[in-house]
Amino acid sequence: MHVLFLGDLMWIYLLLLCCASCNGRPDPRKRDALIGLEASRRTGGDITLNEREKLLDGKLQKLKQHDMEAGQFPPSMHFFKAKRLIDQSPVFNLIQKMPKGAALHVHDFAMVSVDWLVKNVTYRENCYVCFTDKQTVQFIFSSGPPASSSHCSSWTLLRSLREKIKNTTELDNSFIRNLTLFTEDPDRAYPNQDTVWERFEQVFLVAYGLVTYAPVFKDYLYEGLRQFYEDNIMYVEIRALLPQTYELDGRLNDKDWSMAACQEVVNQFKKHHPDFIGARVIFTVHRKINATEAVKTVEEAMILRRNFPDVMAGFDFVGQEDLGRPLWYFKDALSLPEDKGFNLPYFFHAGETDSQGTDVDQNLMDALLFNTTRIGHGFALARHPVVKEMARKMYVPIEVCPISNQVLKLVSDLRDHPAAVLMAEGHPLVISSDDPAVFGATALSHDFYEAFMGFGGMSFNLGTLKELALNSLRYSTLSSQRKEEAIDALLVKWDKFVWESLL
Ligand SMILES: [Zn+2]
Repeated sequence: MHVLFLGDLMWIYLLLLCCASCNGRPDPRKRDALIGLEASRRTGGDITLNEREKLLDGKLQKLKQHDMEAGQFPPSMHFFKAKRLIDQSPVFNLIQKMPKGAALHVHDFAMVSVDWLVKNVTYRENCYVCFTDKQTVQFIFSSGPPASSSHCSSWTLLRSLREKIKNTTELDNSFIRNLTLFTEDPDRAYPNQDTVWERFEQVFLVAYGLVTYAPVFKDYLYEGLRQFYEDNIMYVEIRALLPQTYELDGRLNDKDWSMAACQEVVNQFKKHHPDFIGARVIFTVHRKINATEAVKTVEEAMILRRNFPDVMAGFDFVGQEDLGRPLWYFKDALSLPEDKGFNLPYFFHAGETDSQGTDVDQNLMDALLFNTTRIGHGFALARHPVVKEMARKMYVPIEVCPISNQVLKLVSDLRDHPAAVLMAEGHPLVISSDDPAVFGATALSHDFYEAFMGFGGMSFNLGTLKELALNSLRYSTLSSQRKEEAIDALLVKWDKFVWESLL
């Protein structure tokens, strides 16, 4: 990307030489050159803005100044406390309207705002609820009273419960609290990584009974695509567990059903929104499984990829990296596709840790050795210079999810996020949102704001945002022809956005 690198160095060298004839005050031209060189290295630094873009950039810099000087700087605060401020920020408002290209790292059960799950899904017929001994809830749809479940009260038909209690607001709010991590005092509620991860995985269990009901599964995906589209995203790659879905009479559907459902919903959505390019699925499994289960799962992934080549993009592991098994443990399973001459792309979560020097910390290296297409998070990448260099040479980008890293306690002040350094170096990366619904964030705009303001302060400009939007399509799994078409379509949207933002 920065092909001038060697030339840049020579230029600096010449400037240093000429300093021999300077007095004690550094040559201002040298200073300007250094500032210019730094700016050219960072993400978007080699984008030349046209006249209109320059005008918008001027406006953007003023808006940024306002946020920087407002007293409370949102990226320095926990997102749960910063959200109110971000929502009022004109920079955020601009980012919301901006075409952002693709979201490449989002999880299937955390795409749709929980308000929709509670206000729409739990109000459907035949929805039962039970209250667990861990003070959470479970839901199930059933044509008759379901068999009781362990560690849970008896099932109650939600419609009857709501009729009985009349004022349903408090009940609905308690469901919403169960489906997100949001709390007024996150530091007290989640004192360390393990507690927040435990609650995080619990939240998925609460959503599970709602989202795996077959009709809801399809509606959920459609609503998810709608919310991403509304946030000006034209393409999504979804990490999906593809669990068994169930029908009202208890019949179960397999992964083929889920994959076919995804294909059907994506096609339907595209028909209703012709400028939406599509969505693909990265099949995921929890990293706590054993080696035998991993072999079975990778075989399953290969079959899915063969049967659904358009929608199935590849494979990945999910779950807390620190407590799960490292990639190297799964080496037999992960070697299978290549041994069989089968192309199963990998998209490993790796380096979502601050446990330096552990087996888990080596996941970044192993992800590259297994030819990963992208790296999920890569939070630890800055501490692995050789792996970082390799990733850059192999064009393997990291998927940076700022809010997720903060809420899951890898970093508290987003100005200290390692991606700030990586973006200053123009390392290949995309910004994504991981689990926006669980964090109470919009599909992608809040993460874009945090990255833009938190990682760059006053140094990032409109070119940075443009490059991030372009990167999201460049590093997607779209075929080269579709990628080109998508980038052309993005640039048309971009020009319209710039024009409208200047009115
Ligand atoms: Zn993730």
